Amino acid sequence: MYDEFDYEINRPKLRKPALGFGDIGGAGQIIYNLVRFEEYDWDNVKDRDVIIPLCDANHSFILPNEKSPTGKEILTSLYNLAKKINDLHDERSFLYRIVDWCKQYGNPYAVDELYAMVTDPGYDHAQDYWIEKTGTFELNRFMYDLGRLNTTMAFYFALENLVFDEEAMAYHLSEEERFFEGLPFFEKYKYFDDLQEEEIDLSTAEGDLRKEIALLAKYRKEHPEADTDEDCLDDDHPDEEDEVMFAGIPYDDYDDLYDKLIDIMPSFTIRVRRDPKTQRTVFAAEVESVFDIAWLTLARKIADDVPPEEKGKHQEIKGPIKICPFCGDAFIQNSNRQITCGKIECNRERTKRNKRRERAKKRQADAAQDKNATYSNNNSSENC
Ligand SMILES: [Zn+2]
Repeated sequence: MYDEFDYEINRPKLRKPALGFGDIGGAGQIIYNLVRFEEYDWDNVKDRDVIIPLCDANHSFILPNEKSPTGKEILTSLYNLAKKINDLHDERSFLYRIVDWCKQYGNPYAVDELYAMVTDPGYDHAQDYWIEKTGTFELNRFMYDLGRLNTTMAFYFALENLVFDEEAMAYHLSEEERFFEGLPFFEKYKYFDDLQEEEIDLSTAEGDLRKEIALLAKYRKEHPEADTDEDCLDDDHPDEEDEVMFAGIPYDDYDDLYDKLIDIMPSFTIRVRRDPKTQRTVFAAEVESVFDIAWLTLARKIADDVPPEEKGKHQEIKGPIKICPFCGDAFIQNSNRQITCGKIECNRERTKRNKRRERAKKRQADAAQDKNATYSNNNSSENC
């Protein structure tokens, strides 16, 4: 487990209504009080890289307003940030990408503390030093939190795609990337069926998926001839979408895989807090960082899930989070008909794909017609 960077924190009194039990249900829609800073700096303190929000006479902070991000916006933007950072071909430094994110959405840590400090009626520039210190966070901690969130969310969406018979995301989940390693839960399906059961003994794994995968990978290394054909593209139509092929059927284990997802979700801290406006003490979820907000939002989404056989039949709650089938970015779906993230290139790809499908359908229909014609003209020929 990650050991926390030791900046002393004096927990301030709550200055806004807390995220109570009832609110957690709407965690995705709630606008959070993230304090934004115009500029950041970075430094190395005690051998640790830290990112520092600048707060002084020349650099001010921006108070949360109605444009501040909702839980869903925080979750999707963090997922997309991780995806970009993780891209082997990304040329922008990940440090700059993180700072860009902070400048756009808000300081990622000490959410409540910072809000309390900057809205304190007694605030003056003498406190700027303490605001900077409170908002400072460690780069490694951010990367750790981001990676964990990203891999869990990717696993969730890969599972959801399986329900709709889309295996590509699951297939590519643990491929090598720059920083965050995807969860390996789908690996065994890549070669499971190709193996003679008597040739490999999985009993030593005692049902532990990770150990089974390790055994299978070892077997595969020692028996390269058991490799499956990974490139299953239809070579006649290089334009067709990448068709991937698992040897096994991960959907058969949907329930087990879903349980794995539930297991890796973090637990949440609920504490009693006093609402200064109403003077009432309430149970409230602890929101220290944007990752707490993102996890609460993801947990809410998962808790709203229907059984797989019902998926797609029901109208999901307003503004569900989806993955763009063209670029893989997460986005908030505003209407049922919205399929892509909205980027021009993705919309263009979608139009192309639809045209391709139409053409393929027409080709098939034409071929069927020709075949019927040939068949009725020449009953004796075998046509297969
Ligand atoms: Zn897209």
